[in-house]
Amino acid sequence: LVKADYNRILYTVSRHNVVPLTSACNFDCVFCSHKQNPQGIEVFDLPHMSLEMYRDMLDYIDPNQKIVIGESSTRIIEGEPFCRKDAIEILCMIRKKHRRVPIMITTNGSLLDSEGISVLKKLMPIEINLSLNYLSQSIRKAFLGDPGAKAVETALMLSRCRIPYNGSIVAIGFDDWRDELRKTISFLDKSGAMTIRVLYTGYSKLCRRSCIKLDYTELYNVVDNIGRLISTPVILEPAQVSNFDAQVDGVVHSSPADKAGIKNGDQIIRVNGIPVVSRVDAFNRVLMAKDPLVELVRDGRPFEKVINKDRWSSSGLVFRYDIDPQQMQRIIRAIDSSRSVHPAVITSTMAYSKIDKFLKMRYPEYGIKTVKVENRFFGGNIACAGLMTVEDIIESAAFYGVSVTSDLVVMPHIAFDHTGRDITGESYNKVADALGVPVQLV
Ligand code: SF4
Repeated sequence: LVKADYNRILYTVSRHNVVPLTSACNFDCVFCSHKQNPQGIEVFDLPHMSLEMYRDMLDYIDPNQKIVIGESSTRIIEGEPFCRKDAIEILCMIRKKHRRVPIMITTNGSLLDSEGISVLKKLMPIEINLSLNYLSQSIRKAFLGDPGAKAVETALMLSRCRIPYNGSIVAIGFDDWRDELRKTISFLDKSGAMTIRVLYTGYSKLCRRSCIKLDYTELYNVVDNIGRLISTPVILEPAQVSNFDAQVDGVVHSSPADKAGIKNGDQIIRVNGIPVVSRVDAFNRVLMAKDPLVELVRDGRPFEKVINKDRWSSSGLVFRYDIDPQQMQRIIRAIDSSRSVHPAVITSTMAYSKIDKFLKMRYPEYGIKTVKVENRFFGGNIACAGLMTVEDIIESAAFYGVSVTSDLVVMPHIAFDHTGRDITGESYNKVADALGVPVQLV
């Protein structure tokens, strides 16, 4: 293991509380993002690490945040965690060191057997994100490369063992996809999933499979219609929102919010007397508080509820993601500290309208120019900040005339790694050089 790789791994653990187990996967999903990467991007397979190395790595975990397994957060490719044969042993090691920290595991579920699940039960608090995708064996075989249906049994076993889990489905457009989606959502609803996420597939310009390119509006309507018929919260991601009202999109069955009597469609106005400014704000304020007093509106009538829960424990409230006001405050602090009077803020295509609207609404006196960056490097429908490249930023900023009109460019930190390089290895400093304007990452 070379030092640079080990540093990258330690950064992943210490910055994101992610413990990477393996880049290998036993599936071959048609929508897997690892297959659609253009040449020249810097992503890394995780080298094999001994149990001893994992033991050392556990010192870098923040015990005040949940520990994440199987989710990509840096340039390290995440595969199926249970492809690593000693994954359960590593989980036991984590639990021994961090006794009460929640562990969240994302898995395709195909390699978990009853023995593994009974060990997981002893390691609670654990939450599983089960990427189930589809029920029908023929569809699983054709589109996931899964020869069996073990993942379906895993959902049932998790439910029987009362291990909390969320189901997820990547939506793609094969024949009868609407029926399959309905069947899978209904199965997850009846099999005890806390929430069901339907994911609109991202694809790059290299994607040749037309089934992956679903129409978002059509998918939204199908998911919305199915969601109305079941009690488990069903959320389509990425979400499209037109306002920042903290309207509840779902409540997990038997959760603290459910027991408090909060319902889908209620709007949260204040938490512990503090007005909320977005869904993310409401979610975070409730999450952070012990027994928060929540002021809501239902059918135009205000009312109050106390949600009995511990600090940082889940309330069971489900919202679509809109905007994080703390991130917006970090932008404002960067502008203030630079004494900028004509700031430009770089945004992804996906977040552009929300960030533009929020900043203009809450900070009109700053006269912020919001720059939407088209992702030409990946192409397709890739529109998130994490995959933005320096070249794309320079091109869009030039189009918006940033070099002439702005005295500061604020860019999303998430587009860069811990050394300040984008996914193609270019340093963020190149933006400042090309535009002749200082830049700040937030
Ligand atoms: S299960 Fe996940 S990592 Fe494995 S092929 Fe499918 S999408 Fe890729």
